[in-house]
Amino acid sequence: MRHRHPAHHYVNGILAGDRLLLSQAITLVESRRADDQELAQQVLEAILPKAGNSIRIGITGVPGVGKSTFIEAFGTYLTGLGHRLAVLTIDPTSQRSGGSLLGDKTRMETLSMNPSAYIRPSPAGDSLGGVTHRTRETMLLCEAAGFDTILVETVGVGQSETVVHGMVDFFLLLMLAGAGDELQGMKRGIMELADALVITKADGDNRSAANRARVEYQNALHLFPPTGTGWFPPVLTCSALPEHNTQPFGISDVWQTIEEHHQLTTQNGAGNRRRQEQQLTWFRSLLQQRLEGKFYSQPGIRELINRLENQVLSGTLLPSPAVDMLLNPSTNNH
Ligand code: GDP
Repeated sequence: MRHRHPAHHYVNGILAGDRLLLSQAITLVESRRADDQELAQQVLEAILPKAGNSIRIGITGVPGVGKSTFIEAFGTYLTGLGHRLAVLTIDPTSQRSGGSLLGDKTRMETLSMNPSAYIRPSPAGDSLGGVTHRTRETMLLCEAAGFDTILVETVGVGQSETVVHGMVDFFLLLMLAGAGDELQGMKRGIMELADALVITKADGDNRSAANRARVEYQNALHLFPPTGTGWFPPVLTCSALPEHNTQPFGISDVWQTIEEHHQLTTQNGAGNRRRQEQQLTWFRSLLQQRLEGKFYSQPGIRELINRLENQVLSGTLLPSPAVDMLLNPSTNNH
């Protein structure tokens, strides 16, 4: 039996830091039911004045680079400093392949038991746009619940890192030393988005390779166009596995870098601009999604598209009148 509370019940619970109600509100945000969506929007509207006060950090990297290990160490460090941390994971692969690159239950075991941390995977959706839209709303709920640091993790294999970049204040790219060139570049485009690069597993035999990679990447980053924010993305090294160190190494440097970036972009206004642009992009992509959804949900539209495509293929119809027929079905006599 579905049970739903009135909106104010979720709102009060979230503002009081009640995790159960937070989780239930996130489930509403993720629901496809129209009545759930309506309730979710009421909750979101009410908590909005209390949202936005966190540092939002995106983390990406190829599978195996050490994301979950890093987040364990980083999260434990942050909560040790008194921060309250929410970790949201976006796994664009979990639906397509049936399996998942991120969704493994054993990930972040220590952090999942930490009372100052909250971990929530984003369920796979039909479209990456849909998942990320819900992640943005989830982020707002977590902020209203008092989490001052939000980590959004995604796997660096597709477009998801671009969309995550579009919802965070700081974008962290984890990389391996000594991987092949195709991995090293990891698509130049992603490196260009990064506010910092972290070479992981800088321990044992890998330590000198990590230091070399650090210099190489730092040189590579110098060739990129300036960010326009006065920030120069640094390259750091870290080791997050406890068995290699008495203390994880490099973790506090990553946080210090994020804090420096936060200070700089708060002072020079770049942080605020970035968030404003993100709001606008969110609005525009949502509008596009809704328009497409509305269009494709018209009865018989798929069949009509098929028919028109065949006519375009056979050369009896040009694309432009075909599109006109789709957008103005009343003029359609095909
Ligand atoms: P993810 O797929 O990016 O989340 O990567 P994981 O965090 O699951 O790590 C992948 C593998 O690398 C695991 O076997 C980890 O034990 C190992 N690993 C992660 N971080 C480190 C590190 O700092 N040093 C070493 N030596 N191994 C690490």
